[in-house]
Amino acid sequence: MSQEYVERVFEIVKKRNPGEPEFHQAVYEVLQSIKPVLDKHPEYEQASLLERLVEPERQVIFRVPWQDDQGRIHVNRGFRVQFNSAIGPYKGGIRFHPSVYLGIIKFLAFEQIFKNSLTGLMMGGAKGGSDFDPKGKSDSEIMRFCQSFMNELFRHIGEDTDVPAGDIGVGGREIGFMFGQWKRLTNRFTGVLTGKGLSYGGSLVRTQATGYGLIYFVDEMLKDRKTSFEGKTVVISGSGNVAIYAHEKASQLGAKVVAMSDSNGFIFDKDGVDLQVIKQIKEVEYKRIKEYLNYKPSATYQEDCFGIWNVPCDIALPCATQNELDGNAAETLIKNGVIAVGEGANMPCTIEAIEKFVEAGVSFGPAKAANAGGVATSGLEMAQNSQREMWPFEEVDRKLHRIMVDIYSTAKNAAEEYGAPGNLVVGANIAGFQKVAQAMMAQGLV
Ligand code: NDP
Repeated sequence: MSQEYVERVFEIVKKRNPGEPEFHQAVYEVLQSIKPVLDKHPEYEQASLLERLVEPERQVIFRVPWQDDQGRIHVNRGFRVQFNSAIGPYKGGIRFHPSVYLGIIKFLAFEQIFKNSLTGLMMGGAKGGSDFDPKGKSDSEIMRFCQSFMNELFRHIGEDTDVPAGDIGVGGREIGFMFGQWKRLTNRFTGVLTGKGLSYGGSLVRTQATGYGLIYFVDEMLKDRKTSFEGKTVVISGSGNVAIYAHEKASQLGAKVVAMSDSNGFIFDKDGVDLQVIKQIKEVEYKRIKEYLNYKPSATYQEDCFGIWNVPCDIALPCATQNELDGNAAETLIKNGVIAVGEGANMPCTIEAIEKFVEAGVSFGPAKAANAGGVATSGLEMAQNSQREMWPFEEVDRKLHRIMVDIYSTAKNAAEEYGAPGNLVVGANIAGFQKVAQAMMAQGLV
């Protein structure tokens, strides 16, 4: 019965959102997983719950005009998709990348609903962004763009309405510029954005949170296999915020990270990738990862970022972008003996790749559970802002660790309860969905 309902809703999604394959993919994965819950709750179909769940509550698309350093005028497109507010104010990052279009923002906002639900905190799902490319832009150009972006966005957000954060291309610098403009436009100082600098309301550990949280989550997966990070070889794609702090925590736990990448290519260092060098190149100089060879000539560089999955490893952590690890890459990793895969990025593995990992008995941590540490710590930043307090590093880190352990056991228990033991994809989708579904049912037809 649920099969027919799910298929019907998926057809509506495809028809109503043509040309948005990433959104279709994200919806498909969730709908397939939650069928056992729908069988148990026929009232959901009667209330057209899924039809409502797959339609964003609000979508805003706007013009972002800005001037470069030569005085030339450019026009980009801005987005904010406020997908679901059943369990709290909308919450989700902002992405600046040339590949951004409505379908990407919609898939990310949809995933965010269930991820935020899994954290146990009161946060609804949203996402925003622009097709603006920050690469090669000066600080002044970035500032003018961020200010122009906020000139429209400010109407739609607020500390109890919608609280954006960073994502690809949006880090501390961009959040600072956007916060400054929001304050100027509204004459208010509140926690309207998270990922803020520590001098104006940011939370300790927010910078590290997604990467650290990913490692805490994968550590739980490894414990269930009666092993740990100690002595393991790790490959991490990307070299941005998530990748860097995943490296930091994995290394602290005794692992050796041998490869990292950016969108141009990947480096391999058999002695272990030197994190201080990566931080210097990526956080200070904003340069390409091949610069690593200038510091470590014994390392190698290859001009194909997807080739990173050919590097043999025990643990693979895709932390760059969506659909970066496909079925062929999964086969290679399995052949090379991978035992665990944790998604640091959002939807980095294709559906085919996930199926291969699950089939091969590889422990697989899906993004909406494994990378929820970032938004969870954003939730903690909101709590600190509301209290006008700043908690010490150890306290936030302890709370983050607790949340990741809880997410793991929640997903694992849900998978067991609904007949898919060990399948954290199914478990995370079901656990995330249940809370949102209950709240939507309780709140009537909205
Ligand atoms: P950053 O912008 O800091 O880093 C992104 C990294 O991925 C860079 O190394 C970038 O390389 C690489 N990358 C981007 N696009 C591509 C591409 N098309 N192909 C190959 N590599 C690419 O972003 P984050 O680290 O913040 O985000 C990474 C992922 O994690 C995203 O999927 C994001 O949605 C997800 N995420 C982030 C959270 C956070 O708190 N930051 C929270 C939860 C999820 P280059 O510099 O060459 O572009």
